[in-house]
Amino acid sequence: MKVIVSNDHQGHAGAKEMRYDKMISMSESPDRVDIILGALNKSGFFHLQEPLRFGLNEVLRVHDPNFVKFLEDCYALWKKQFGPNGFATAYTFGMRGMDQKPNSSVHSMLSCYTFDVCVPFVDGTWKAIQSSKDIALTGATLIANGERSVFSLCRPPGHHASKDLAGGYCYLNNAAIVAQYYLDRGMNKVAILDIDYHHGNGSQTIFYERADVLFTSLHCRPEDEYPFLLGYQHETGSGAGAGFNCNLPMPLGTRYAVWEQALVFAIDKIKKYGPEVIIISLGVDTFIDDPVGGFKLLSEDFLDIGKKLSQFQSPTHFIMEGGYAKIELGINVSNVLSGFME
Ligand SMILES: [Zn+2]
Repeated sequence: MKVIVSNDHQGHAGAKEMRYDKMISMSESPDRVDIILGALNKSGFFHLQEPLRFGLNEVLRVHDPNFVKFLEDCYALWKKQFGPNGFATAYTFGMRGMDQKPNSSVHSMLSCYTFDVCVPFVDGTWKAIQSSKDIALTGATLIANGERSVFSLCRPPGHHASKDLAGGYCYLNNAAIVAQYYLDRGMNKVAILDIDYHHGNGSQTIFYERADVLFTSLHCRPEDEYPFLLGYQHETGSGAGAGFNCNLPMPLGTRYAVWEQALVFAIDKIKKYGPEVIIISLGVDTFIDDPVGGFKLLSEDFLDIGKKLSQFQSPTHFIMEGGYAKIELGINVSNVLSGFME
């Protein structure tokens, strides 16, 4: 399997995040890519490839131009006001009853275009964001040219980012960008299967009123877990998209025996839809020891997940999302992909 990866994410580092009442180092850190690559290299089944360079045309098919301009300019504006050290993050958010239009200050833009304190900006952030979408789009060009499966090792991840909001370590929605790319290349039906521990709120909202992208997500129930305000079972799409959004929330502490049933249900639903390509938003923060997760999947379960995902007739495009258990992150990702190829 071809793995698209780049070093251009490495400058997106060094910021802190709030974990409830503590300031901690970001769990979403550059060494995640090295750990995954280390495990993939050991298996010998994978061929690494650098991404091609894309502009912003593909991005602007699903994201708001003012939002994308903000992502590009944010840290330069911050530095001008606050100096070269530290990182940019929002202080308030656009809430009910507040004017949602930003003025020219970087704080007003951070308030308007981010929804939590887990999307810091440093000097290397914009370069990493661009590289991540290039990695996703390069994978899509390979699939469009006949490859049966590809792994886009994206960092930063994307599934929490909506049309004009960044949050949850995500800035641009890589899965949504490639879903739209496939449609623009002539496909009529695309499926996104999101198996990250957290609900893919950004992917859901981008395609919520559309029938050409079936979005299915397995995640921890939002009553208990981030992003808290979206990801409920009753959210099934609206307008032309009615019936094309499928949330399968599960309680904290869920083990593989239960999670597996949800996966089988999701695979069945996607097969009935009959997509021309399946995009897997691959998060392995469902692992039992993940510091930001609350499920209890084991490393060997990820082999079985990969095996089950290999049943689709259509090409499968894996896009990296979450996974923060530094010791097992590599083997868990490698197990999904190895199980898939077996
Ligand atoms: Zn996650």
